[in-house]
Amino acid sequence: MAFEVHYDESKCNGCGECVEICPQGVIEMEGDKAKWANPDECIGCESCLEVCEPGAITEVVEV
Ligand code: SF4
Ligand code: SF4
Repeated sequence: MAFEVHYDESKCNGCGECVEICPQGVIEMEGDKAKWANPDECIGCESCLEVCEPGAITEVVEV
Protein backbone atom coordinates (compact mmCIF):
# COMPACT_ATOMS: atom_id res chain seq x y z
CA MET A 1 0.00 0.00 0.00
CA ALA A 2 1.37 3.41 -0.94
CA PHE A 3 0.14 6.91 -0.26
CA GLU A 4 0.51 10.23 -1.98
CA VAL A 5 0.12 13.61 -0.29
CA HIS A 6 -1.26 16.36 -2.49
CA TYR A 7 0.41 19.65 -1.70
CA ASP A 8 0.24 23.17 -3.13
CA GLU A 9 3.65 24.67 -2.45
CA SER A 10 2.46 28.20 -3.23
CA LYS A 11 0.24 28.08 -0.10
CA CYS A 12 2.98 26.85 2.25
CA ASN A 13 3.90 29.48 4.85
CA GLY A 14 6.97 27.65 6.07
CA CYS A 15 5.65 26.94 9.58
CA GLY A 16 7.29 23.51 9.73
CA GLU A 17 4.38 21.89 11.62
CA CYS A 18 4.07 19.06 9.11
CA VAL A 19 7.77 18.25 9.46
CA GLU A 20 7.42 18.13 13.25
CA ILE A 21 4.36 15.90 13.32
CA CYS A 22 5.14 13.38 10.58
CA PRO A 23 5.98 10.09 12.33
CA GLN A 24 7.91 8.82 9.33
CA GLY A 25 10.29 11.69 8.57
CA VAL A 26 8.76 12.08 5.14
CA ILE A 27 8.85 15.87 5.01
CA GLU A 28 11.76 18.29 5.26
CA MET A 29 12.03 22.05 5.00
CA GLU A 30 13.83 23.38 1.96
CA GLY A 31 14.29 27.06 2.61
CA ASP A 32 10.83 28.30 3.62
CA LYS A 33 8.89 25.53 1.86
CA ALA A 34 8.02 22.00 2.89
CA LYS A 35 9.34 19.29 0.62
CA TRP A 36 8.31 15.61 0.46
CA ALA A 37 11.82 14.23 0.72
CA ASN A 38 10.98 10.59 1.50
CA PRO A 39 7.56 9.99 -0.05
CA ASP A 40 7.92 6.20 -0.07
CA GLU A 41 7.89 6.21 3.75
CA CYS A 42 4.41 7.80 4.00
CA ILE A 43 1.86 5.66 5.91
CA GLY A 44 -1.14 7.85 5.08
CA CYS A 45 -1.81 8.96 8.66
CA GLU A 46 -3.03 12.44 7.57
CA SER A 47 -1.30 14.15 10.52
CA CYS A 48 0.35 16.63 8.15
CA LEU A 49 -3.00 17.43 6.58
CA GLU A 50 -4.55 18.13 9.99
CA VAL A 51 -1.86 20.58 11.15
CA CYS A 52 -1.48 22.56 7.93
CA GLU A 53 -3.35 25.77 8.72
CA PRO A 54 -3.09 27.50 5.32
CA GLY A 55 -4.41 24.41 3.55
CA ALA A 56 -1.29 23.80 1.51
CA ILE A 57 -1.76 20.06 2.08
CA THR A 58 -5.03 19.23 0.39
CA GLU A 59 -5.47 15.46 0.58
CA VAL A 60 -3.79 12.14 1.24
CA VAL A 61 -4.70 9.44 -1.27
CA GLU A 62 -3.91 5.76 -1.60
CA VAL A 63 -2.11 5.04 -4.85
S1 SF4 B 1 2.20 22.56 7.76
FE1 SF4 B 1 1.58 23.39 5.76
S2 SF4 B 1 2.22 25.55 5.82
FE2 SF4 B 1 3.35 24.48 7.46
S3 SF4 B 1 5.30 23.87 6.49
FE3 SF4 B 1 3.86 22.14 6.28
S4 SF4 B 1 2.93 22.45 4.22
FE4 SF4 B 1 3.88 24.39 4.82
S1 SF4 C 1 0.31 11.38 5.83
FE1 SF4 C 1 1.42 10.97 7.76
S2 SF4 C 1 3.21 9.77 7.13
FE2 SF4 C 1 2.40 10.72 5.29
S3 SF4 C 1 3.58 12.62 5.04
FE3 SF4 C 1 1.69 13.13 6.19
S4 SF4 C 1 2.27 12.97 8.37
FE4 SF4 C 1 3.86 11.91 7.17
